[in-house]
Amino acid sequence: MNNLLAGHRRIVVKVGSALLVDRARGLKRTWLESFGEDIARLREEGREILVVSSGAIALGRKLLKMPTGPLRLEESQAAASVGQIALSRTYSEIFGRHGIETGQILLTLGDTEERRRYLNARATIATLLGLGAVPVINENDTVATSEIRYGDNDRLAARVTTMVDADLLVLLSDVDGLYTAPPALDPSARHIPVVEHITPDIEAMAGAAGSELSRGGMKTKIDAGKIATGSGSAMIITAGNRLFPLSAIERGERATLFKASGSPVTARKRWIAGHLNTAGRLVVDAGAVKALVAGKSLLPAGIVAVEGDFERGDTLVIAGPDGLEVARGIVAYDAEEARRIAGRRSSEIAAALGYEGRSAMVHRDDMVMEWIAGERPEAALGAA
Ligand code: GLU
Repeated sequence: MNNLLAGHRRIVVKVGSALLVDRARGLKRTWLESFGEDIARLREEGREILVVSSGAIALGRKLLKMPTGPLRLEESQAAASVGQIALSRTYSEIFGRHGIETGQILLTLGDTEERRRYLNARATIATLLGLGAVPVINENDTVATSEIRYGDNDRLAARVTTMVDADLLVLLSDVDGLYTAPPALDPSARHIPVVEHITPDIEAMAGAAGSELSRGGMKTKIDAGKIATGSGSAMIITAGNRLFPLSAIERGERATLFKASGSPVTARKRWIAGHLNTAGRLVVDAGAVKALVAGKSLLPAGIVAVEGDFERGDTLVIAGPDGLEVARGIVAYDAEEARRIAGRRSSEIAAALGYEGRSAMVHRDDMVMEWIAGERPEAALGAA
């Protein structure tokens, strides 16, 4: 087996809660020490490492001696508050032994979904890397509520990967990769070593369930893969529950590699493609799909339905006549205006709106479909 870390310079490593926290004993220090040694060695080779660490809630509930079972929102927020500080202290101490400074970054959904805040967070992380520190990132669970949270660190880690232009995202998990079916349920499930493109068949292989301690199951890992590979980063899923988990990848222990999609896209387009919450949907006709594939802007004439309550500047899904997503882009009109001009020719826009509007509903520079081409080649590149 190959060394899957070879050739990757900037790497985001996501560590799941189950690897860090033991129900009975608390933090798994020996594991963390081995992880710290791996990171120190990779940095000596000239690589940059970012850690996205879960475990705040799991550790906090252990430290606070909270009962097992589901937590209310304010209980998990309280647990995160205690767990996060303990987690950060431990990272700082363990990396510190190797002369590495640790920078704590707690993100809320708006920090990656709103462009201004995204650029701000990106600048901070880039500065930390430039100064030689290892950013340790988690969701800010103490203030996140259900409507405004990532919810799982798999997708958060993928958003961070695109934000910092990392070459590789490693998901250290309690499973050693993707199988043709969830192996716990189907003993005949086969391991898949390499995924060239995340097709609907690949998505169907992911069951939904996560483990008891962590929120993400295989489904959120595939979602993360779509975000990461669509913006030109590779992703690895492997079991992290052995000591020296990154050395294990280099040794060729079992893992699944999701290859980066071939087409390099601009930073702005990457940001558009990776949106977790889109504000609405524009359903377009076959002619419009063809025009988009040819690199044209989306004009009102090709739109057959406008769904959702969005504002100008929001990111929307653009779906073909079959209802499947073909592109994503920033809309130039509010939902109400979009409904008034949908299906109309550009020459009729001024009369329908009462003022001279833009000719495109979504301008080509504000639209991305490259990542979907990998996923649905038939839809994006031909069938329409
Ligand atoms: N952010 C959560 C925590 O630190 C973990 C989310 C996840 O397990 O994906 O506890």
